[in-house]
Amino acid sequence: MPTVQLRFYEELNDFLPLQDRKKWLSRPFDAGATAGEVVGALGVPLDRIDLLLVNGEPADFSRKILDGDRVGVYPVFESLDIGPATRLPGRPLRDIRFVADVHLGKLARQLRLLGFDCLYRNDSSDNDLIAVMKNEGRVVLTRDRRLLGRKAVSRGYCVRSEMPGDQALEVVRRFDLSDALRPFTLCMECNLPLAEVGKEEIVETLPPLVRRDFEKFHQCPGCKRNYWQGSHFDGMRRFVDEVRRESAIPPPADAEAETASPLQKSVLSLPKEGPGGFASGRHRRPNKRKRR
Ligand SMILES: [Zn+2]
Repeated sequence: MPTVQLRFYEELNDFLPLQDRKKWLSRPFDAGATAGEVVGALGVPLDRIDLLLVNGEPADFSRKILDGDRVGVYPVFESLDIGPATRLPGRPLRDIRFVADVHLGKLARQLRLLGFDCLYRNDSSDNDLIAVMKNEGRVVLTRDRRLLGRKAVSRGYCVRSEMPGDQALEVVRRFDLSDALRPFTLCMECNLPLAEVGKEEIVETLPPLVRRDFEKFHQCPGCKRNYWQGSHFDGMRRFVDEVRRESAIPPPADAEAETASPLQKSVLSLPKEGPGGFASGRHRRPNKRKRR
């Protein structure tokens, strides 16, 4: 009987028995079977699969499998181990956008810091997340496998790391975004693109030392926070540099995301909520009117 080699990547392994996970499996098949049939025979739902590589070449489910073929099976949005040359033809460059669940607020802020559009509300229900995913083509980020298991979730990623700094690195790695970082371009609170603003326009709102020491400012069109390269900026820049550097390096051989090399401590010392943007942007107009 002919045999096929199969290897399932990342969360697709959750559908396999423990002993079959994360390694090449050898399976007999009936001559004439398609890729969809040999994959489906292992119990992995086809709608969770984004990409099939047969002997390193992209293929679809109707591909006839031959004796000795090697089939790599990647979940939706899986990107590890896939070189640019083997991407499915016509696959768009990812202008990827995220929506994070209620437990991933820190990750959302860090993705924004890195320049990635990530919606977040601390009161989103699962249905809210799914609606945003559908309506805006966003990828749901969550640590809740139950949510990802819902049939309606077609674009989702289960974040393995528990530390926020590691989570950001994991997402950047996972979606192959190390070349797409655009740090310090989004408001960390509102997710909106920052715009340059003249010092003269906001000088009244600045604390005296900031007024004295800084010339360049950006402002969020939503919350009107001002951003400048103040005291927190160095720490943030270290974080960005670290993510850039670490994400360009493949994770150690056979490392699972759960054990991905942790970022150094320094990286995790991002300022929490509070006076912070890149510096300390909470100073709004001094008059006490309600902000709009
Ligand atoms: Zn804002």
